Amino acid sequence: MTCGCDAAAPKGSLIPYEDALQQLLERALFIEESESLPVVEALGRVLAEDIRSEIDVPPLANSAMDGYAIRIADVQPGGETRLRVTQRIPAGEVGEAVETGTAARIFTGAPIPPNADAVIMQEQVCVEGDEIVFSAEVAPGQNIREAGEDIRAGQVILGNGTRLRAQELGLAASVGRDRVTVCRRPRVGIFFTGDELVEPGQPLAPGQIYDSNRYTLHGLLQSLGCEIIDLGIVGDTLGQTLEALQKASQRADLVITSGGVSVGEEDHVRAALEQLGELDMWRIRIKPGKPLAFGFVGDTAFLGLPGNPVSVFATFCLFVAPFLKQMTGANDVVAEPLQVRAAFDWPRPDSRREFARARLRRDEEGQLVAEVYSNQSSGVLMSTSWADGLVEIPEDSVVKPGDIINYYAFRDLIA
Ligand code: AMP
Ligand code: MG
Repeated sequence: MTCGCDAAAPKGSLIPYEDALQQLLERALFIEESESLPVVEALGRVLAEDIRSEIDVPPLANSAMDGYAIRIADVQPGGETRLRVTQRIPAGEVGEAVETGTAARIFTGAPIPPNADAVIMQEQVCVEGDEIVFSAEVAPGQNIREAGEDIRAGQVILGNGTRLRAQELGLAASVGRDRVTVCRRPRVGIFFTGDELVEPGQPLAPGQIYDSNRYTLHGLLQSLGCEIIDLGIVGDTLGQTLEALQKASQRADLVITSGGVSVGEEDHVRAALEQLGELDMWRIRIKPGKPLAFGFVGDTAFLGLPGNPVSVFATFCLFVAPFLKQMTGANDVVAEPLQVRAAFDWPRPDSRREFARARLRRDEEGQLVAEVYSNQSSGVLMSTSWADGLVEIPEDSVVKPGDIINYYAFRDLIA
C-alpha cells in the first residue's frame, strides 16, 4: 500500500526539498485537543485561543517619573513657577484633583490625579518647605504614560498558533490572565533499529556502537515540547519491528524511528509499515538525509529517519520539526533563513541540495559570515555540536568566499 502521495515521484527521480516539505505539511493531522494551563507552566507551548484583553494597559494614565504632577496652566512661561505641594501619591494610590497653584508629589507608576496634565521630574525642581520652584519648560503630557498606551481593552494581544516565549507569558499576565488554552503536547513514539546498538553506560563489544540517536531525538523532541514514548533499541527482525511499531502507534500522534529503512535484508521498518499501515519512501534531493520514509498506521503518522546520526539530526531540523509544529497549529512552522556571506569555499557541486553544518562569526569588517565544519561526512556527529546552524548549498552549485547564502539557525529550526 502507499499513501497515494504526489511526492512519490517516478522511480529513480529525486523530489526537491520544497515539494517534499509541502507534501509532508499537507499530510500533518492537526491535534484538536487543547488544555488549560497556568501561564507560568505554558512556556514553549502553542496557543489554542486568541487572547483578548478586557482592560486598558496601563489601566490609568500614570507617571513615568518620580516628580510632581502639575497643571500646565500654572506654569510661568520663561520665568519661575512656584507651586504648593498639597498631596502625595505613591504607586498604588489614587490622588485628588490638583487645584490651581498646587502640585502633587507623585512617584513612578502612580495614577495622574485629575486636572494635572504634566509631571516635572524631581531633579528639575527646588523644594522650599511645602513649595516647589522651577523654571524648566514643561510640555503638555510630559512624563505621563497614557491609559491604554500599551494595550486597549478589546484588543487581541496574542493570536491562536502563537508559540509562547517568556515575553508572551508576561504579556498574558499583564492583562490579568492566569491561565491559557494551549494545544496538548504532541505524543511521539520513538524506537531505534539496529543489532549493533548498545545503550551508553554499557561496555562495547566488537562491532557495536552506542545508540546516540536516542539521545539526539530526546533532546530535539523535548525542545519542541513533545511527550515522548520511548521503546528504546529494537533488534533487526521483522517480528521485533512489528511489535515496536504496533506498540508505539497505539498511543502516539507520530512515530519516529531511526535506521532500518534502506533496502538491505537487515532493514525491516519498511516491511513492518507496509504490513500495519501505509508507507511511501521519499528520495529527497538533499544531503544529508535521503531517504525519508513517511506513512501512517491508522491516524498515527510515521517518519522513518535514516540511521546515520548526522542525517537524523538534519532531517529532524528540515522535516520533523516543521511537521510537529504543523500538528500543533503553530504559526512558526517553516524557519526563515538569514542571508549571510560565505567564509568558505565549496568547490564541488552536487545534484542534491546540501545542508552543511555551519556557524556564524564576524569577519574583520564586523560582517556576519558563515563557516562550515571541516568534515561534512554524514558520519561525523562532531559537526552538529560544533555548528549553530545549517547553510544551504544550492543544487549543482559551487560557493566561493563572499557569496551570499542562506543560513538557518538551529534555534529557529528546533525551538
Ligand atoms: P541503517 O540505516 O540502519 O543502515 O544505519 C545507517 C548507519 O547509522 C549505520 O552505520 C548504523 O550503525 C548507524 N546507526 C543506526 N542507528 C543508530 C543509532 N541509533 N545511533 C547511532 N548510530 C546509528
Ligand atoms: Mg540498521
